[in-house]
Amino acid sequence: MFLVVDKRKLLIGIGIVLLVCIFGATAVALYCAVPRKEYVVVIDAGHGGGDAGVVGSKSGVSEAEINLLVAFTLKKQLEERGVRVVMTREKKSVLEDGIGSKSDDFEKRKSIINDNSPDLVISIHQNKFPDSTRRGAQVFYNVSSEQGKSLATAVQTSLNNLNQEKVGRSFSALKGDYYILNCSPYPSCIVECGFLSNPNDEELLLNAEYRENLSALIVKGTFAYLDEKSL
Ligand SMILES: [Zn+2]
Repeated sequence: MFLVVDKRKLLIGIGIVLLVCIFGATAVALYCAVPRKEYVVVIDAGHGGGDAGVVGSKSGVSEAEINLLVAFTLKKQLEERGVRVVMTREKKSVLEDGIGSKSDDFEKRKSIINDNSPDLVISIHQNKFPDSTRRGAQVFYNVSSEQGKSLATAVQTSLNNLNQEKVGRSFSALKGDYYILNCSPYPSCIVECGFLSNPNDEELLLNAEYRENLSALIVKGTFAYLDEKSL
């Protein structure tokens, strides 16, 4: 049997396909040519100086130390994604030569955040609880910041991959009344990466590969928030 093809219709069809391809390619080229906004993220490694934070029950490692290790890993991974990262501290203390009071420390963090007008702030901490079986990653936000809540929810959702694996359940982001969440108008969250009062969490947090995995999930959540916001 012969297939009867209407040449005119065929030509119109080919023309339409070609036009769609040309416009599609042009749209993609234009999209790629528009420079993407450079995101700025402040990473705040909690504690430091004379404030060690909580202490590991097994190894005696300080929270301040673990916070800085996680912060550096997160910084590296965000920079690999083209983000400009500002750290509140890269040394033991936020303050020059570690000299100053706790309120000086807080003021310094606040001015670093506000001077850089970041897209968002991520503060890294470790948790502690009297019941040593308690473990997992928990994210906090300022209740009066809708954007902060969206950021915290996106990061918590991503970190729930680890919580499901290690704890067998997911957590919800929680509201919290903390200085670092309240000291600027920028979307902020606190990530309590794990419990230093839990020996399993402590061992994992001391492991560089685990910190890489943990940071990768924070990055994933951060971009889920930024992508959603830029729609
Ligand atoms: Zn802390």
